[in-house]
Amino acid sequence: MPQKALIIGSGIAGLATAARLAEAGHQVEVFEASAKPGGKLGVIGDERYRFDSGPSLFTLAHLVEQAIKDCGKNPADYFQYYRKDTACHYFWEDGTRIKAYADQQAFANEVQEQLGTGKEEVLQYLRKSAYIYKYTEKVFLRKSLHRLQSYLHADTLASIIRMPNLSLTGNLHDLNRRKLKHPKLVQLFDRFATYNGSNPYQTPGVMSSIPHLEHNVGTFYPLGGMHAIPQAIYRLGKDLGVTYHFNQRVERILSEDGKAIGIEVDGEVHQADIVVSNMDVVPTYRRLMPEEPAPERTLEQERSSSALIFYWGIKNSFPELDLHNIFFSEDYAEEFRQIFEQREIGDDPTIYLNISSKEGEGDAPEGCENWFILINAPGNTGQDWDEIIPRVRKQVLAKLTRILGKDIESLIEFEDYLDPRRIESRTSSYQGSLYGAGSNDTFSAFLRHPNFSKRLKGLYFAGGSVHPGGGIPLCLMGAEITANLIKEDYAQ
Ligand SMILES: Cc1cc2nc3c(=O)[nH]c(=O)nc-3n(C[C@H](O)[C@H](O)[C@H](O)COP(=O)(O)OP(=O)(O)OC[C@H]3O[C@@H](n4cnc5c(N)ncnc54)[C@H](O)[C@@H]3O)c2cc1C
Repeated sequence: MPQKALIIGSGIAGLATAARLAEAGHQVEVFEASAKPGGKLGVIGDERYRFDSGPSLFTLAHLVEQAIKDCGKNPADYFQYYRKDTACHYFWEDGTRIKAYADQQAFANEVQEQLGTGKEEVLQYLRKSAYIYKYTEKVFLRKSLHRLQSYLHADTLASIIRMPNLSLTGNLHDLNRRKLKHPKLVQLFDRFATYNGSNPYQTPGVMSSIPHLEHNVGTFYPLGGMHAIPQAIYRLGKDLGVTYHFNQRVERILSEDGKAIGIEVDGEVHQADIVVSNMDVVPTYRRLMPEEPAPERTLEQERSSSALIFYWGIKNSFPELDLHNIFFSEDYAEEFRQIFEQREIGDDPTIYLNISSKEGEGDAPEGCENWFILINAPGNTGQDWDEIIPRVRKQVLAKLTRILGKDIESLIEFEDYLDPRRIESRTSSYQGSLYGAGSNDTFSAFLRHPNFSKRLKGLYFAGGSVHPGGGIPLCLMGAEITANLIKEDYAQ
């Protein structure tokens, strides 16, 4: 039966849930605090340089197409993308460089050539990575972990009997040290922990499934940049009849007799049968329904890491760089100890450098590049960011100047930054975490907030802070789970 559904927030999961519910016949309205759709998938820049302000790495692109197809539309009318031949360029201080080709054999050959070892290890690692992904995706990512019927499917049972082979216990770094001999190869595969903001020295070995995404499935680039992803789903929703309200910050979720009955915006009540919060789950409880008993253990779950980002317009071009580049720290263990234990950024952070002007025409003037530099950082717990930011900027400039052999500071002609405080205040993401709840604990998946409220009928959640977690692909999977739960709950 058609219901009135109100969505709080137009992050990628809010947009995708809205479109799916509209396609199912519900009357859907989205209330967004900021002026534009997309949440963390924003854009900044000036008339010369364009930057995607948040995500830069696009994996599992077919999920965007699937969302469009599931809504009965032709993906090509909304969204286009291509697969990259090279996933990433890796750099070390001692001059070692590795091009991580998307093609497994080419990547393994490159590793052998640059490190003098590792070819067979890499191929074997990627085979196992694909195996683990195949059997964990169905259990942990595609269904609600909090509804009994999810466990009654044959494919779930097939995964459960394989659990002992899925590296669920032991940490990723120890697993990588067992499987890979060369320390640089260990570091390269450890870095996949940062895909969901976790620590390779703590996160379970099951995260060794993540390289499968980059090296077996591939990395992709959307025409028009990353912001084209939420734009496509926004347009899809519009075509399906979703109404969007921008610059409308939701202040309360209203409830009566154990049921969500609407929201309050600017003192005005909007009634509904269904409310979906795409806002981070912590501020959803704390700010929008402070009188409701909150699931404290869930809200106290450790958060994923945050980031410090520098956006630099660079008046030069660097042929040795690609879309994705990583400049590793000398002491990875110390770097992560600083982030997760000291809640600091150390003196030699690993640098992720993304240059979309390598792909997108118009993202930088001729002969120039738009550098997006991301440093992993702890969440905002009151650190002195005004001291940290200039210190890290100096270290980043020195490291890039050393490795690339050109003075970088003198090339900067546009500059902006994003820090955990800004991420937190701009998108209401608790502590400015990039991916919601962290994944350092073996049981993280089960500790994450469900896609529905256990106390209030009609209240649901979608987005990085709830199951199955953050990152564009998981947010899209989560939106599908949330929409399916609503469809099931309101089937008659
Ligand atoms: C710097 C950075 C780099 C990242 N890199 C990657 C990457 O390379 N690849 C990847 O896959 N993922 C990456 N991520 C993570 C990814 O961006 C997020 O997991 C994902 O975009 C989160 O989407 P979401 O649906 O949870 O909502 P969000 O994007 O968090 O949006 C929530 C929306 O709700 C709105 N809102 C909040 N409160 C209210 C309210 N009270 N009323 C109305 N509206 C409200 C906000 O304004 C916002 O628009 C990155 C994130 C950041 C910040």
